[in-house]
Amino acid sequence: MDDCVFCKIIRNEIPSKKIYEDESAIVISDLNPQAPHHFLAIPRKHFAGIHEVPGEEETLFETLFRAISETVKREKLNEKGYRLVINYGEKAGQTVHHIHVHILSGREFHWPPG
Ligand code: 5GP
Ligand code: ZN
Repeated sequence: MDDCVFCKIIRNEIPSKKIYEDESAIVISDLNPQAPHHFLAIPRKHFAGIHEVPGEEETLFETLFRAISETVKREKLNEKGYRLVINYGEKAGQTVHHIHVHILSGREFHWPPG
């Protein structure tokens, strides 16, 4: 997608701090962190939401969670506790319409979320 900020990051047209990358996903530091550790796990293929991923592309989920798991281990987030968040749609607070999983860690998180 030409005007998608995460597609631009994936194409290296916008700089980012990459924590992890493989053939199907990247993990970067969030520009506006909401916790001491705040990363975004992003599939290289552009879909706005997880419900838009067709059956033949479902390996995306496996590879995205592998990227998250690797990041948790590399950054030792399992020792601190961590929260994963996916926003979809304006009411849920989605601002970038390319699937991404927020990985948040390093502080207390409350329930229910705001
Ligand atoms: P959303 O609100 O869609 O769930 O999350 C989008 C996230 O992307 C936000 O936390 C925002 O700070 C982050 N973000 C937006 N633009 C950029 C950017 O250019 N670089 C990085 N690293 N993060 C970005
Ligand atoms: Zn995109």
